[in-house]
Amino acid sequence: MPDPLTPAQRHVCMSRIRGKDTKPEILVRKGLHARGFRFRLQDRRLPGRPDVVLPKYGVAIMVNGCFWHGHKGCRYATRPKTNEEFWEAKIARNRHRDEVTEAHLEALGWTVITIWECELRGGAAQARLEALADEIRRAGELRREREACKRQSRLEARREREAMLARQAALEAEINALYPIPKRIKKESKE
Ligand SMILES: [Zn+2]
Repeated sequence: MPDPLTPAQRHVCMSRIRGKDTKPEILVRKGLHARGFRFRLQDRRLPGRPDVVLPKYGVAIMVNGCFWHGHKGCRYATRPKTNEEFWEAKIARNRHRDEVTEAHLEALGWTVITIWECELRGGAAQARLEALADEIRRAGELRREREACKRQSRLEARREREAMLARQAALEAEINALYPIPKRIKKESKE
């Protein structure tokens, strides 16, 4: 299918798919900063280069444009009437890539939060940012609980191993006391 875009249009498009400093992204950044969160931007070491990463909470945030990422049921995600098939295929690819990225991040232990551009429009933005802050804190709590749980089971496993070794040693001592090794054998082993 021929590309219906001029090189200049294409450049604008591509820079918007996962762009830096888009308006919604700046809103998210400011909102988090105002609430005292520390974060990294566009971390290249992670799959999909998430827009905002909060290592302390194990949270990766994707700020998605509704059109480019095909926000389902969103009125800002309308397809252009011309070259419908082209856009359909393109947006389907973006959606698929988003899903793969999310699964990949989750497999690495990250909580992925997606913020849609439409959620940050007008008066709704502050409420969405407040909810985002809650989501981040909750994800951080869950992560701490999971880690505490892991630490606890490691500790229990170690205690069990130690108890087992102690039981074995006690048993050996008992056997040695019941069946003393004859003096002859001890003597031979020394020579
Ligand atoms: Zn939307």
